[in-house]
Amino acid sequence: MSGDEKIELCDIDAGTPREQGEQQGERLGEQACALFGLRWRLLRLRSRIRDVDQLHAKAQAHVEVLRSFDGDLSDELNGFARASGLEPWQLVILNHYTDFRDIPPDDGGCSVVYAPLVGGNVSAQTWDMHGTAEPFVTLLRLKPRDAPPVVLFTLTGCLGMTGLNAFGVSVCINNLTPNDARVGILWPALVRRMLRERTAEAALEVLMRAQLSSGHNYLIADRARVFNVETTGVEKRVTFRDASAWYWHTNHYLDPELRAFEVPALSTSTTCDRFETLTGKLASSTTRPADIDALWTLLGSHDGLPRSLCSHLQGDDPAASKTCGAIICDPTRSHILARRGCINGSSYRVVEVEA
Ligand SMILES: [Zn+2]
Repeated sequence: MSGDEKIELCDIDAGTPREQGEQQGERLGEQACALFGLRWRLLRLRSRIRDVDQLHAKAQAHVEVLRSFDGDLSDELNGFARASGLEPWQLVILNHYTDFRDIPPDDGGCSVVYAPLVGGNVSAQTWDMHGTAEPFVTLLRLKPRDAPPVVLFTLTGCLGMTGLNAFGVSVCINNLTPNDARVGILWPALVRRMLRERTAEAALEVLMRAQLSSGHNYLIADRARVFNVETTGVEKRVTFRDASAWYWHTNHYLDPELRAFEVPALSTSTTCDRFETLTGKLASSTTRPADIDALWTLLGSHDGLPRSLCSHLQGDDPAASKTCGAIICDPTRSHILARRGCINGSSYRVVEVEA
């Protein structure tokens, strides 16, 4: 597949973390301001916290946690803030929206697949969120000081949602909705910190030590190893570690003990529909994708539309979810495949981790 490359790449030169943040703020600041406006409006509509001062204080608390968690990522966020005119707490809302909204789960999600293909294992995911976020989906390629080069699938103004580093370590994500969310590390900062490691095992250790904020599912892989970890605000469980087996995950807990933490999904949630579609394709060796292009085609499946893997629930509700893009991380070839928007019948852009 080639041509029709529908996602932008923001290439950032080497520099101090603050300089890297400033470069991003200069190039993406205008878009980030627009996205902040959208997310702030949605947060005010949907959060159980009605008081603006309380929302501000809660966001500010995350700024402090980030500073003590990782000085470089804190500097990068502050550099972005300075160059874009956004305040650091506003960037917290941008980064941490899914954990921060403190509202019942919406119908958003993501579908993650670990695929031990003949040519080397890959990790893949769709990215589903409020459809109004789609224009802000972008790729970011960074050459951090004292850290491996990395390509990130992200939203303008966010530190990175999912990605692959030059050592072949990838992190993919599903949002989960536990009842024990609290102030903690911005989840995109945790993704970035994990992508500083040389092995999947080392990235797993970073995750297992971290003071989390809310629930996510993390699929961590390199060329030889894979770990899937479900988390709540407080709990963490490794649910999968067999690099020769297929694995898939959507937006509900699979670990029997962690299910007790799950906030019941709305009737509009498509997590079970997408999980069933994946099980139908991936459980048997006769129906599994044989190569990366077939896997990309699966991510774009419209079977069961609008509750399909490539989902289209948006309608008139600006907070309702749709698939806003997808990524496949290929550690063997040290590149990612990505696209913004609907994946069905689409081509992808190939981006090398090291330019
Ligand atoms: Zn679609």
